[in-house]
Parts: sequence; C-alpha cells; structure tokens
Amino acid sequence: MDSKSDYRACVDLGTDCCGCELCIEVCPRGVFSAARDSVGFFYPKAEAEKCISCGLCSRKCPVINSKNLAESTHNIGVFAGWSTDEDTLMKSSSGGLFSALAKAVFAENGKVAGAVYSEGFKAVEFFIADNYSGIEAMRGSKYVQGRKSDIYRRVKTELKNCPVLFCGTPCEVAALVSYLGGAPENLYTCDFLCYGPTTEAALSQTVEHLERKYRSRIAALTMRNKRFGWTPKYIFKCVFSNGKSYENFFGNMPIGTAFTSLKRPSCHSCKFKDNMRASDITMADYWDIIGNSEAVEYNKNGTSLVIVNTLKGKQLFEKIEDFYSFSTEQLFAQKKPKALVSCAPVSPSRGPFEGKFVKMGLIEAVRASKSVKSKLMEHVPLPIKYYGLKLLAKVRSFRDRG
Ligand SMILES: Cc1cc2nc3c(=O)[nH]c(=O)nc-3n(C[C@H](O)[C@H](O)[C@H](O)COP(=O)(O)OP(=O)(O)OC[C@H]3O[C@@H](n4cnc5c(N)ncnc54)[C@H](O)[C@@H]3O)c2cc1C
Ligand code: SF4
Ligand code: SF4
Ligand code: SF4
Repeated sequence: MDSKSDYRACVDLGTDCCGCELCIEVCPRGVFSAARDSVGFFYPKAEAEKCISCGLCSRKCPVINSKNLAESTHNIGVFAGWSTDEDTLMKSSSGGLFSALAKAVFAENGKVAGAVYSEGFKAVEFFIADNYSGIEAMRGSKYVQGRKSDIYRRVKTELKNCPVLFCGTPCEVAALVSYLGGAPENLYTCDFLCYGPTTEAALSQTVEHLERKYRSRIAALTMRNKRFGWTPKYIFKCVFSNGKSYENFFGNMPIGTAFTSLKRPSCHSCKFKDNMRASDITMADYWDIIGNSEAVEYNKNGTSLVIVNTLKGKQLFEKIEDFYSFSTEQLFAQKKPKALVSCAPVSPSRGPFEGKFVKMGLIEAVRASKSVKSKLMEHVPLPIKYYGLKLLAKVRSFRDRG
C-alpha cells in the first residue's frame, strides 16, 4: 500500500503536523481522533484498520499541500494604523485591525469566526459571531493553540447564506481554504504574524494554579493588558469572581515561560511564512515602526501592521471605518518583520524544560528553572517592576550617550 494514499501520509508528518485537525474532519471513515502528546499538543491518531486508502486526508492536509494553498499575490498594499475608537484600541492586542475588519463584514450582514477562551479560560476554541458584540471575546492574543473541532464545517455552512470573515493562525487559514477547495468569493480570511503558540496545558495549569492561590474562579483574563500602553512588555491580568485581581509581566508567568520554551514543534519549521500565506490580509504588531527615523508616527496604545495580500483583501480594507492608516511600503521593503519571514528558533532551554514539564507539571518546572533573582522579583508589585525597568533603561541610555 502506498503511504501517500492512506492514513500514514498524515501520521508520518510527525512533528511537522501543525495540529489543524483537518484530517480528522475530512476522513469519511472516522479513522482519526485527536490525541495529545506528552505536553498536550494534539496530533491525529489513526485506527489503521478503518482506512480505505481514499487519499482524501493527504490531499487536504495544509502542511502536505502548503505550496498549492499559498495565495498567488502578496503584499499588494502595506499600511500602519490603529482604531480611532479608544475602547476598541485598548481591548485589542495591537492596533485593533481585527475589530475594524469584523465591523466591515457585519455591515455586509456577514459573520465572523475567531478564537475565544473556553472551559473557564483553560482552553481556546473557535466561535462564530453574528454581531459586533459577539467579537468581544475574540479580541486579545491567546498564546496557546486553539481547538478546531468542527469549525471548518460550520464556516462552510454559514458561507451558503452570508459572507464570513475567518481569523486565525496562517496554518488554520490554509486548512480552511483547503477544506473549502479554494476560497469562495464571500469568504474573507485574515491571519497574523505567528511565532507559534504553546500548549493548552500551559494555560490550564496556570489558571488552576492562580485559582488555587486566590481561592476563586477566574472571571476575566488577558495576556495583553494595556495599562502601561502597548509596549514594552506584555502584561497578563486576570480578575477573579471574588473581586480580587492578579497582574504580572506575561514573560514572568508560567505560561510566558511555556510560550518561549515550549512552542508547538511544527512552528520551528513553519510552512506558512512570507509568501506562503493563504490569507487575504495579514496583521501584526508593528514593532519596527517604533524609533524608526523614516516612520512618521505610531500610536503608543497599539499600532497594527496591515499586509494586504489579495484584491479581495484590498476591497475589504478599503471599506473599514474608525481606523486611521497610512502606507508604510518603503519601511516594510527596508525591513520585513522577523516573524513574517523566519520561524521561531528552538529555545536553548527547551529540552530540559520539557523534561521537567512532563515530570512535574508547569508550575514546578518553572520554579525549578528560575534563578534566585527572578524568584525574588515575583514578590515585587508590578508597577514598581515596570517603573524600575523604565528608570534603568533611561540610566543606561544616558550612560551610553555620555
Ligand atoms: C499564537 C500567536 C502568536 C503571535 N505571534 C506574533 C508575532 O510573532 N508577531 C506579531 O507581530 N504578532 C504576533 N501575534 C499577535 C498578532 O499580531 C495580533 O493578534 C494581531 O496583530 C491582531 O491585532 P489586533 O489589535 O487586531 O488584535 P485583536 O483584536 O486582539 O485580535 C484578535 C484576533 O486574533 C485571533 N486570535 C487570538 N488568539 C488566537 C489563537 N490562539 N489562535 C488563533 N487565533 C487567535 C482572534 O481570533 C482574533 O481574530 C501573535 C498572536 C498569536 C495568537
Ligand atoms: S479513509 Fe481516506 S481520508 Fe481516511 S485515513 Fe484513510 S486515506 Fe485518509
Ligand atoms: S497538519 Fe492537519 S491535516 Fe495534516 S496531519 Fe496534521 S492535523 Fe492532519
Ligand atoms: S507558527 Fe506556523 S505552524 Fe505554528 S501555529 Fe503559527 S502558522 Fe501554524
């Protein structure tokens, strides 16, 4: 039997599998189920005897077919911009482009699919909103991999009646386009520069740890709170049902360590970089605009980079409202963002950290990997850490100048 035409084509991808779950969805014999690896990432597990070698799974898999799924045009317009609605900007991770695109699609009586927290903030899954207030929960980068379940099928059903905007990682967008056999005219797709998520298990263990400590359920959570603005550091904040709250630098949190040291393995050799994207629009945090002498301006509360890939994307971008934008083609041509063109490197601490994670769980693994200094820093309130770091940066720049 040729492994290209049976279940083995997918299973043999091993760590190149991006976890899009499409093979599970398309297989007519229910050969695949989603199985977790030792750290919680999902991979397809096959019941070999059920397979009839129809080859559908390998014809649809976005990793195997990444070259055929990439859009033929890219970067046909490049802009910087931000939402002019303060509330939207402050609730969005970056400049609020996603909300502006969603609003334009709702204006066409369309629907919007995006990632939301589920299971009491212990997981992430896809949801389809039919009005603007429904996208509230989609806002905010959730740095763990979302479960796809039947989202591809649900989007297909919606497309029979109305336009749909789908926003997800580049591999999720490619999987949807593959499932649909090409992008229909009324489907808009939007992805983002993606350095790769960590495992859902890191989120659930972080949440369980905090809920134990505060003896209360989490009622709201964000990994990109903007109380100090958009930069320089991401701030994790959660509010508990008992009214208490907790905040810290995301990078100092257990989930932050996992995000750096324990990404999905496929993300280190991602097949959806640069011109391999299947989306109409790609969005990003426009970090390169900060301090660049060529840059005219940026918004301290968030600036989106907008990369328009297709004519359909251009038409949608031209329809958005309450979003200030200007072309940055020159700056983009000089410096393409790192996460657009290259994959996240494997963290040097991955091996030992992964070993500890499997053995002791996230919280103990992080504790065992932390220096005495960072353990002490845990007890310093966030505003003191934040302004202390700012002062230190100023002293350093003063010293370097003179
Ligand atoms: C895993 C991950 C890695 C990222 N890596 C980079 C990077 O390397 N460089 C960079 O510039 N930006 C990165 N981003 C952030 C991305 O730039 C911003 O989300 C984007 O600019 C949107 O900004 P916005 O202000 O419109 O945000 P928001 O309104 O906050 O956008 C939210 C959108 O992101 C989607 N989303 C959030 N979390 C997930 C998830 N786990 N899976 C799928 N979709 C999700 C939602 O569906 C929603 O559509 C990453 C985001 C994620 C989730
Ligand atoms: S039955 Fe077809 S789709 Fe299912 S695993 Fe076998 S080859 Fe793949
Ligand atoms: S990349 Fe997606 S379709 Fe391909 S094997 Fe992995 S889960 Fe299945
Ligand atoms: S880095 Fe690539 S493989 Fe990983 S989630 Fe993002 S798009 Fe998918």
